Amino acid sequence: MVQITSPLGFLGTVYREIRQSMVDMAEMFHLLDQPAEVLDKPDARPLTVQRGEITLDNVRFSYDPEREVLKGVSLTIEAGKTVAIVGPSGSGKSTISRLLFRFYDVTRGAIRIDGQDLRDVTQTSLHAAIGVVPQDTVLFNDTIRYNIAYGRDGASEADVIEAAKAAQIHDFISRLPDGYDTQVGERGLKLSGGEKQRVGIARTLLKNPPILMLDEATSALDTETEKGIQEALVHAAQGRTVLTIAHRLSTIADADMIVVLEDGEIVEHGTHIELLAKNGRYASLWRRQAAEQDAA
Ligand code: ATP
Repeated sequence: MVQITSPLGFLGTVYREIRQSMVDMAEMFHLLDQPAEVLDKPDARPLTVQRGEITLDNVRFSYDPEREVLKGVSLTIEAGKTVAIVGPSGSGKSTISRLLFRFYDVTRGAIRIDGQDLRDVTQTSLHAAIGVVPQDTVLFNDTIRYNIAYGRDGASEADVIEAAKAAQIHDFISRLPDGYDTQVGERGLKLSGGEKQRVGIARTLLKNPPILMLDEATSALDTETEKGIQEALVHAAQGRTVLTIAHRLSTIADADMIVVLEDGEIVEHGTHIELLAKNGRYASLWRRQAAEQDAA
């Protein structure tokens, strides 16, 4: 009996891990049909995250040889700090997050986590170390409990509730007639963009990864919802290294460092206050967004 159930249990775990990675990747890149271009080296080892420091060392990258998208990006995200990448559309922000997930390999240079080159570690261990809070969380046609518990194998009811509380979605769930048993997804209760995102945050908190990648929603949320999500994200960021891909500047003013990317190059970096004082690219992006908000 043991001989039969153990391999099946193992297969179940492998299947679950692969599915989790697929969901993370699909959520992150909005793509399911894109082939994985990278393979583990035969001697690849599991990534060991001790502190969670991320280093981009003169990273160059091209999707196709004619056009370089990242032109020598060097950046260190210290363990436990939050770095936000901002910049015009097409400047290469999402490309950096794809490379960190090793969806592609860098063309030149290297990306390291705690000194380990991403090309030397197994993809399963890399994906287990990085939690993704995507723009658009994929919900399964199942209960809200299942949708949160999906973040971690064997999560208890108490774990699920704790994650939901931290993600500021517990009160909402408690008010539903069926609570955590409420069916969501296409065939169940339709959640708003903000509610879905908080389910995604709860799921990621349960996964408890040392590194977080946030792909900030482009769509404008109402102020109350945005405040709730910001609070949830501040909670989620505690004790983790965070890379935020920011489309709106209002949400990243508290980041430890803001990096301005333009045409595949870092043109400015510093804190919100430092960059405003510098009166350069960031300051003009900030003024433009503030004017747009006032107009709206
Ligand atoms: P946005 O703010 O609009 O999301 P971004 O700064 O995240 O933009 P990226 O998605 O990183 O920009 O794209 C950088 C450049 O790479 C763009 O010129 C884009 O057209 C190009 N690019 C992105 N994905 C691919 C791909 N799969 N194949 C070829 N070129 C791509």
